[in-house]
Amino acid sequence: MITLKSPREIEAIRRSGKITAAALSELMQTARAGMTTRDLDRIAERAIHGRGGVPTFKGYRSFPASICTSVNAQVVHGIPGPYVLREGDLLSIDVGTTFEGFVSDSAVTLPIGNISPEARQLLAVTQECLMIGIAAVKEGGYVGDIGAAVQEHAERHGYGIVRELVGHGVGRVMHEEPNVPNYGRRGAGPRLRTGLVIAIEPMITQGSREIEVEPDGWTVVTRDGKLAAHFEHTVALTEQGPKILTLRELGEHPAIDRFRPGEEIAAAAR
Ligand code: MG
Ligand code: MG
Repeated sequence: MITLKSPREIEAIRRSGKITAAALSELMQTARAGMTTRDLDRIAERAIHGRGGVPTFKGYRSFPASICTSVNAQVVHGIPGPYVLREGDLLSIDVGTTFEGFVSDSAVTLPIGNISPEARQLLAVTQECLMIGIAAVKEGGYVGDIGAAVQEHAERHGYGIVRELVGHGVGRVMHEEPNVPNYGRRGAGPRLRTGLVIAIEPMITQGSREIEVEPDGWTVVTRDGKLAAHFEHTVALTEQGPKILTLRELGEHPAIDRFRPGEEIAAAAR
C-alpha cells in the first residue's frame, strides 16, 4: 500500500533530509585520496548523531556501517572498511537518516582527484538522469513516467541501467511502496499523487547492466568490471510540484559543472 504524506509529515522528512544533506556535504568536502572508506563512515556517523539523527542503514538487515561507500565497479551497498581511496576513483556515498521518526535517503557519486573524461561523463549523465527523473514527478502522472525519462537519457548515452535495484517510497521506514524503477513505460505503474514521497536513485553503468553481489553479501558490482554511478534524492510531490527534501546547500556537485537546472528542477529545489 502506498502511504501519502501530509504537509506536516513532508516537513518532518525534510528535517531528516537536512541532516542527510549535511552529512553528505561534509563527506563530499572531505573525501580524498589516502582516506579509508571507514574514515568516511566515522565522519558521517558523527555528522548524523551530532544533529540528533540516527544512521538508518546501521543494523538494517544487519548492515554493519552507517553509510554505503561503493568504489568504481561497485554500484551500491559497499561496506566502508580498510579500502584506501586512490586518485582517479569514483566514489559513491549513500546516506540515510532517521530523525523524529522519519527517514531520508540520498546519494552522490564523486571523483577522487582527477578522473578520466569517460568517468566524468558517466557522473554527469547519471546526475542528469536523477534530475530528469525528478522533473517527471507530476500530479496525475505515473511512476513509469519517471523510469521512462531516466531510461531514455541513460540509453541515449549508451549506458546500462541496473534493473534489479530500484528507488522506493520513503517515510517512517526506508523502503515503502511504491518501487520506483529506473526504466519503464510512460503511463505505466502507480499514479503519482500529491503527498507521495519517493527516493529516486538511478544506478547507471558504463558497460553492460548486468550486476552481481560480492561474497560479503552486500556489495553490488558490475559483472563486466566497468564503472557505475549512483545519485539519489528523496523527493515529495506537493501542491507546488516536486520538492527535493535532501537538497544540499553547497549544491548538487562541486566537481560537475555541466548540469544546468531547468526551471522545473530549480522549482523543485526551492
Ligand atoms: Mg540511498
Ligand atoms: Mg534509496
